[in-house]
Amino acid sequence: MGRVLVIGAGGVSTVAVKKMAMNAGVFTDILIATRTKRKADKIAEEIKNVKVQTAQVNADNAGELVTLFHSFKPDLVVNLALPYQDLSIMDACLAYGVSYLDTANYEPLDEAKYEYSWQWAYRERFEKAGLTAILGCGFDPGVTGVFTAYAAKHHFDAIEYLDIVDCNAGDHHKAFATNFNPEINIREITQRGKYFEDGQWKETDPLSVHRPLDYPHIGPKESYLMYHEELESLVKNFPTVKRARFWMTFGQEYLTHLRVIQNIGMSRIDPVTFNGIEIIPIQFLKAVLPDPGDLGGNYTGETSIGCRIRGLKDGKEQTCYIYNNCSHEAAYEETGAQAVSYTTGVPAMTGAKLFMEGVWKKPGVWNTEEFDPDPFMKELNRQGLPWHELFNVNIEL
Ligand code: NDP
Repeated sequence: MGRVLVIGAGGVSTVAVKKMAMNAGVFTDILIATRTKRKADKIAEEIKNVKVQTAQVNADNAGELVTLFHSFKPDLVVNLALPYQDLSIMDACLAYGVSYLDTANYEPLDEAKYEYSWQWAYRERFEKAGLTAILGCGFDPGVTGVFTAYAAKHHFDAIEYLDIVDCNAGDHHKAFATNFNPEINIREITQRGKYFEDGQWKETDPLSVHRPLDYPHIGPKESYLMYHEELESLVKNFPTVKRARFWMTFGQEYLTHLRVIQNIGMSRIDPVTFNGIEIIPIQFLKAVLPDPGDLGGNYTGETSIGCRIRGLKDGKEQTCYIYNNCSHEAAYEETGAQAVSYTTGVPAMTGAKLFMEGVWKKPGVWNTEEFDPDPFMKELNRQGLPWHELFNVNIEL
């Protein structure tokens, strides 16, 4: 049916491309373009049923990307590189005339600042060009937006309280490792906390608000309030929301390592001079930490991510908890990657599939909750991320 160009060849790309190959009727030609070509070659070698080409590209350079787009002629560009490349890739998509999908909002390299303003500013240009841009189509952001839209469509007249809960109860048997790109992950977790209440954003010290939350099949896990980018689009797209928060679980061992990393300056994102050259400490740290893509083999346990929602239906208050649990072992068996890469790569492929099929296709720049959630929810069940709903249970909000 169509040609897809995937940028990046890390853990998320590995899963997304393998799942594209499992939907070969939709993704007939695939090109993986990335900075280190041998990583793309490794993914391509493992796929036998679809033609997968590879290329080297610097995605910070829009001109290089446009040249590549002219030679491959993609119907969709899926950005699974890093958030720093979002704008150069969107520029290249506009210059060539191709639609776009990503899983994380743009971040400037020199400031860990999370907001959609930079990418939303492309709305009119994508609209005028008749191109679709789907932003944040991983699990969180991504599926969490779809879950919220699904709840709003089917279960509530007004959503008032939204808590997104993200638990990783897996064990990778390493002293310290991050589950996706360490630089992006540590920047996100060490920022100040922020949540939305009564029309305002309220800030907290990093990871200072926490409580045990009960997760299905897992039990209670200490969960920390932090800012996550989908809160910004969700409170805008669901204006009845009075409070929106995001919680993520961390183990004590992880937090201790993180504190030490911060205290010794290794999470700094400003340049320091070392042996006469400038290095960014957090980038150096990434080079010595375990590669998240290699964690899968020994990873046990599961993730549980969902939306806990309270609101009104027919004048009465009700609650709804929509979630997915994903096993690290099962994800590894199917794709050779752990569940955090899996829960991001499957939704990225799913959004791309719905675009290719013309189901999630409309000119402009959109967050996932702005599309019809029903076809996406059906696909999640088919593509390896089955979801469940609980009503009016104690969801500790
Ligand atoms: P990785 O670091 O494993 O992979 C990133 C890939 O992008 C690497 O192959 C890297 O190349 C490539 N890359 C980086 N810079 C460039 C560049 N300038 N030009 C070309 N290629 C480049 O990351 P992950 O796979 O863990 O994560 C991918 C994305 O998914 C990130 O944006 C992350 O924030 C997002 N994510 C989203 C989640 C969600 O639920 N929405 C959850 C988890 C992740 P090289 O191999 O040379 O380093």
